[in-house]
Amino acid sequence: MYEMEKQLLYEAHLTLEKYDLVAYTSGNVSLRIKDHVIIKPSGVAYSVLKPSDMIIVDLYGNVIEGNMKPSVDTATHLYLYRNIEWAKSIIHTHSTFATVFAVREKCIPVLCTAHADVFGEEIPVTEYAPVGSEAIGKAVLKVIGKSGTVLLRKHGVIVVGKSLDDAVKKAVFLEEISKMSYFAMANHHVEPLDPSEVDRLNKQYHTKYGQANNL
Ligand SMILES: [Zn+2]
Repeated sequence: MYEMEKQLLYEAHLTLEKYDLVAYTSGNVSLRIKDHVIIKPSGVAYSVLKPSDMIIVDLYGNVIEGNMKPSVDTATHLYLYRNIEWAKSIIHTHSTFATVFAVREKCIPVLCTAHADVFGEEIPVTEYAPVGSEAIGKAVLKVIGKSGTVLLRKHGVIVVGKSLDDAVKKAVFLEEISKMSYFAMANHHVEPLDPSEVDRLNKQYHTKYGQANNL
């Protein structure tokens, strides 16, 4: 079932690895198709992962298809799918520079135009929540904004996308703007962009940049 979607999900995992957002077995991507969610199996390294390894579960975690255990973060993904109507794909990583902000318990202010373009708001940080239950999903829901992008305190990041491509793109850009912000703020006080300019840039990016159907 969902062979084409499993292939796309597999390729999304490889994209995370290509951009150095994940290492060995960490991180995961899921894709929602109506009342089903396809997600990475738990603890399988990217080097041996195959499209046919992907697990299909329902929105309450019952396995519909697959021979392995789904990701340990499945409960987090499912909680968010059940509570965010527009969520079609979710990515979890420990990408380095974004996680530095999460570890420091600091949100990422909007310092540059690329951040304003893609996200349109500062990236918030959740309260601390343990892995493996709905607690992370609940913590994410408390702070998530229009960007669908959140830092998990002392842990990593969650990106909620309107599509698989949207989620992958935001996961990649998040690490880029995190890295830039980290260096910009090192030993310097940096003023954020004016909020009205952030709104203008974000609107412009989502309506005029690229070919069509940006984020
Ligand atoms: Zn994690």
